[in-house]
Amino acid sequence: MQAGEPIWHKFKDEELLAMRICDLGVRLEQSDLKERVGQLYDELAARGLSLRPDVYLGDEWFSPEGIPAIAIPFYLAHPRLKALELSQMLEVEGGSPESCQMLLRHECGHAIDHAYGYSSREDWSSIFGSPEAEYAPETYTPRPYSKSFVRHLPNWYAQAHPDEDFAETFAVWLGSQPDEWRQRYKGWKALEKLEYLNTLMQDAAVAPPRVIRRRRTSEASKLRTTLARHYAARRKLYAADFPDFYDADLRQIFRNNEPGSQPAVTVLKKYRVALIASITQWTGQRKYIVNMLVRKIIDRCHELGLTAAPGSVQVHFELASYIASLVTNHLYTGRFKRSV
Ligand SMILES: [Zn+2]
Repeated sequence: MQAGEPIWHKFKDEELLAMRICDLGVRLEQSDLKERVGQLYDELAARGLSLRPDVYLGDEWFSPEGIPAIAIPFYLAHPRLKALELSQMLEVEGGSPESCQMLLRHECGHAIDHAYGYSSREDWSSIFGSPEAEYAPETYTPRPYSKSFVRHLPNWYAQAHPDEDFAETFAVWLGSQPDEWRQRYKGWKALEKLEYLNTLMQDAAVAPPRVIRRRRTSEASKLRTTLARHYAARRKLYAADFPDFYDADLRQIFRNNEPGSQPAVTVLKKYRVALIASITQWTGQRKYIVNMLVRKIIDRCHELGLTAAPGSVQVHFELASYIASLVTNHLYTGRFKRSV
């Protein structure tokens, strides 16, 4: 055992899940996140900004309303907790140094708005839209080819709300040099947003933040809920967001019923991992939701006794396209949930 490791680092999942979040004793300063936050501060300094948002461990990625602060989910503070997050949710948001840095820049966009109140300005609204727009990241309908928005986080997240658009634009501005973003977004309407933000940031470089209040909403060290209850709540949230499918579609995909055919379930189970990986990659949907959908389809194929011709390439293509379309339509029809 390494010196300084918490006693739970060798616990089995069940033992770990019984623990309360506040009792984990994880600290940002004692984790790899220290380096990530250091890089964020360096980037802010390099752009001439004086704001250094308060960064702490919370229960998810967010910036508390009206406060120039950033919460990072506690599970990123220890490899054992990242492994638990992976086994519970099938992916770790911000688990790689690159994705963590991208999320930090995004949240920093909210934090800087909270510090200077930019979104209450009229010129801000004329560029990004009204901040009073209904805030419902689960009901936005993205236009994938729109050039009015920067592309940073998955699922065209800048299109979710004017505040998210600003946070995403800030993230691009902070993470790349002016000549890089000017080149990348040349001819795009999104460039106007970047140029406007660039002007705002010249002001921020000389003006002190208007809000310096500190308040740590949902700080991990104060969360008395157990990890088991925490994950049950998050899974319930995703389950409510689950796409539907129809028996008739499955019957059409697995229409083969000739001698030598094999159960559809066998085919599905054999290619499950590859199927989920490709769909997740190309739709940007959460792995947990795609996995649940595939699992539900496997159960239904079993109940319906569907079969497929062995080694039928056609079935593989149809299945992948069908599931991707379910997930994508689901995204467009607006029950998609992602909030950062
Ligand atoms: Zn956001």
